[in-house]
Amino acid sequence: MLKTLDKTQIKGKKVLLRAAYDITLSNENNKWIVPDDQRIRATLPTIKYLLEQDCRVILMSWLGRPEPGQIEDKYKMDAVANRLSILLEKKVKKLDQTVGPEAASNISKMKSGDILMLENTRFNKGEIEADPELALEMASLADFVVFDAFAQSHRKHASTTGILENHQETCCAGFLMEKELTVLGQILKGTMEPFVVVLGGAKVSDKIAMIRNILDKSAMILIGGALANPFLKAQGFGVGDSLVESAQIDQARGINFDPVEIARELLAKSKNDVVPHELLPEKWPNGGPIKLSKIQLPIDVLTAKRNLNNGFDDETIKIEKVNSRSNLCDPQDSILDIGPRTTDIYSQIVKRARTIFWNGPMGLFENFNFSHGTKKLAEAIAKSKAYSVIGGGDTEAVVTKFDLEGQFGHVSTGGGAALSLLAGEELPVLKYLEI
Ligand code: ADP
Ligand code: MG
Repeated sequence: MLKTLDKTQIKGKKVLLRAAYDITLSNENNKWIVPDDQRIRATLPTIKYLLEQDCRVILMSWLGRPEPGQIEDKYKMDAVANRLSILLEKKVKKLDQTVGPEAASNISKMKSGDILMLENTRFNKGEIEADPELALEMASLADFVVFDAFAQSHRKHASTTGILENHQETCCAGFLMEKELTVLGQILKGTMEPFVVVLGGAKVSDKIAMIRNILDKSAMILIGGALANPFLKAQGFGVGDSLVESAQIDQARGINFDPVEIARELLAKSKNDVVPHELLPEKWPNGGPIKLSKIQLPIDVLTAKRNLNNGFDDETIKIEKVNSRSNLCDPQDSILDIGPRTTDIYSQIVKRARTIFWNGPMGLFENFNFSHGTKKLAEAIAKSKAYSVIGGGDTEAVVTKFDLEGQFGHVSTGGGAALSLLAGEELPVLKYLEI
C-alpha cells in the first residue's frame, strides 16, 4: 500500500519535496524561460497542501542532461522557480547549490510556510551513479521526504532512491505521484473495454517493451510515427530513408534489442487475435473496408525527400498506400506522417473505444506538413467518450500545441516512467514509498 500524504502527520515539518521539473527551457532575449508549465502546475496541489500545513518546503529536481559536475545556464532551475513564484503568488527563493554548507545555512533560516528551490541535482557528480555520500547530504537537508517526482521515478539516482534510502520511515508519496500510480495502475489491472492503445513517436525501445506487456489487455494497438517503421520492415516493406532504430544494446534494460526482430515477434504473436466488432469503423474511407489487425499498422503514409538543409520540400510530399508493393517508398524518401485514410480509420476506432492510452505523435508533427495525422487523432481522442490517458514528453507538447488542454482524462507527466510501469517494470522508488 502506498504511503500517501493525506494519511501522513506532516504539520510543521521541514520537507524535501522531490518534484520532477524536467522541462526544456527556451531562450527569449537572452533569458531562459519555461515555455510550457504543465509539469509545474501538476505539483501545485502538493505544494499548496504542504504550505497550508505550515511546512518549510525545499524543492529538488533535475532538469535536462547537463554533463555531470558542470553548470550550464540552460539547465539551471531559476526559470522554474520564477514560474512557480508566479503560479503560487509567493516568493520561491532559488539557491545556486543543491547541497553543502551554503544550502544548509539558507535552509536553517527558513520559517514555516517558506518555500525554496535547490539547484539542478544533475550538476552534482555522483547524482546519476546514486553515490551514497551525495544521497546522504541531500537527505540531511530535511526531516521528511515527500516524493512527487513520478516522471523521474524510474531512475536510480542519488536524488531518487538515494534520498529515500535515508528516509525509509520518514517519506511518503505526494498527490501527483499518487494520482499517476492510481491511473496507470488501473490500466494495468483492467479497464473499461474495449481498451485501445495508440502508439507513435520515435523512442522505439521504450515502447516495444510496453507493447509486450499490454498486448493481452488491449483490444487494439494503433501504431503510427516512426514506431511504425520497424513493423513495416518486419512485414517486408522497404521504408527508404525513414527513421528506423538500429539493433542496439538497450542500456537501461541491459538487453540486446533489435526493433525489427521484436516487431516481427509481436506481429506473429497477435496474428490470430480478432478485432472486436464494436471497434470497426461505421463508415469506411475511400477504398472500402479492409481487414484490421490487433496490432494495426498505417494503411497509407505521407513521404517526402530530405533536402540538403535536412528539411523536406513541399513538392516532394506524396501519399503512399501500404499495399503489396514491397518498396513502400523510394530509397531517398522518408515516411513522416500517417496518411489520410489511416487517420480517418484510427479516429473512428478511438471514437468507439471506452479506454484509451496514447503515447507518441503520429508523425514529425513539429513540421506543419506532417502534423495532420497527430492533430486529427488528438482531436478524435479528445472528443471520444472514452477515458483517455496520455503520456510522453512530446505527446504532452502536442496537447498544448493544438489547444486541447483539459480534454483528456489524465495527462501523465511521466513519459519514460509511465511506459516503464506499463511495461510491467517495478519503479525502483516504490519499495520505499509502500508499506
Ligand atoms: P514522447 O516524448 O511523446 O514519448 P517520442 O520522444 O518517442 O515521444 O517521439 C517524439 C518525436 O518523434 C517527435 O519529435 C516527432 O517529430 C518524432 N516522430 C514521430 N514520427 C516520426 C517519423 N515518422 N519520422 C521522424 N520522426 C518522427
Ligand atoms: Mg520524447
